[in-house]
Amino acid sequence: MEIKITRTTTPKAKPAKGQALGFGKIFTDHMFMMNYTEGKGWHDARVEPFHNIELSPACVVFHYGQEMFEGLKAYRGVDGKVRLFRPEMNARRTNASNKRLCIPELPEEMFVEAVRAVVDVDADWIPTDDGTSLYIRPFIIGTDEFLGVAPSKTYLFCIILSPSGAYYADGLKPVGIWIEDDYVRAVRGGMGFAKTGGNYACSLAAQVKAHDDGYSQVLWLDGVERKYIEEVGAMNIFFKIGGKVVTPMLNGSILPGITRDSVLTLCRAWGLEVEERKISVDELIEAQKNGTLEEVFGTGTAAVISPVGKLRYVDEVMTIGDGSIGPLSQKLYDTVTGIQWGKVEDNMGWTQTV
Ligand SMILES: *Cc1c(COP(=O)(O)O)cnc(C)c1O
Repeated sequence: MEIKITRTTTPKAKPAKGQALGFGKIFTDHMFMMNYTEGKGWHDARVEPFHNIELSPACVVFHYGQEMFEGLKAYRGVDGKVRLFRPEMNARRTNASNKRLCIPELPEEMFVEAVRAVVDVDADWIPTDDGTSLYIRPFIIGTDEFLGVAPSKTYLFCIILSPSGAYYADGLKPVGIWIEDDYVRAVRGGMGFAKTGGNYACSLAAQVKAHDDGYSQVLWLDGVERKYIEEVGAMNIFFKIGGKVVTPMLNGSILPGITRDSVLTLCRAWGLEVEERKISVDELIEAQKNGTLEEVFGTGTAAVISPVGKLRYVDEVMTIGDGSIGPLSQKLYDTVTGIQWGKVEDNMGWTQTV
């Protein structure tokens, strides 16, 4: 793929060393763009100065939400090298989302090449403070100027980059999770497995409710019986029950996280007993009561491992362990982030340097 590179002539000031970056608030100097036109395919791959995009107010994406997105990171290693973590998995998941949303296929190698190209141009934007990284946000939107309900015939693929701060400024802190018993996120046959804005739009009401009550995230139950655990807002969920590592199996309504896959792979490699299966909220409550619920943690690109210290379900508030991070959660965090920052040897072949 040929990528035309146009560099900015007015670079912005980069965040200073030690500056609090937060998440998704600062954007780099450049962005990747590529168009799709029916009959022509993907064309005009380019890296350009970061800029606003002009679109007709009649665009498909604004009315019917035909869009998908991805999320991954570039890490500046302790050896100075820039690493991506399993970007081919994001490329593969892009096409799973695309298929569900009638967005044309994007060849996997094109996706990875595009990510590498824009990260390379803005490599100086990768922050170097402990725990920081460059968040990469690829997305595709339907751009047809048409109010009829039909798949768009034209699309825009963009990648924007955002230096982001350490998720845990002062160590891995357990979070409180709200098990939502009213709203649901996805149903089988819906688009829960796809990374698309609509899944987030429908999650906001529950998130607001949980936040108002002092919980940081929502844990979703299945959309039919509201009985089985699905996943957290933007993370998959794991439990350690009676020595076994248990996570809900992928059933079509759960997002197949890349961190989830990495954690399963590591746990199996470490000889732990791992189960991907249905887990009811009743089973959790029971395990907590009889003392076999050892650890609970979320997995996702942003936090990697997010230990859960408290779970709320209707009138029940469960404290997990002693409210501090469990040894498995800590070991997983240290291993995955160690590989990402080049501190631990990557014998899984998960990273590539840019
Ligand atoms: C992105 C996402 C995850 C986590 O996926 P990773 O690939 O591990 O970052 C989990 N759940 C939802 C709903 C997501 O959008």
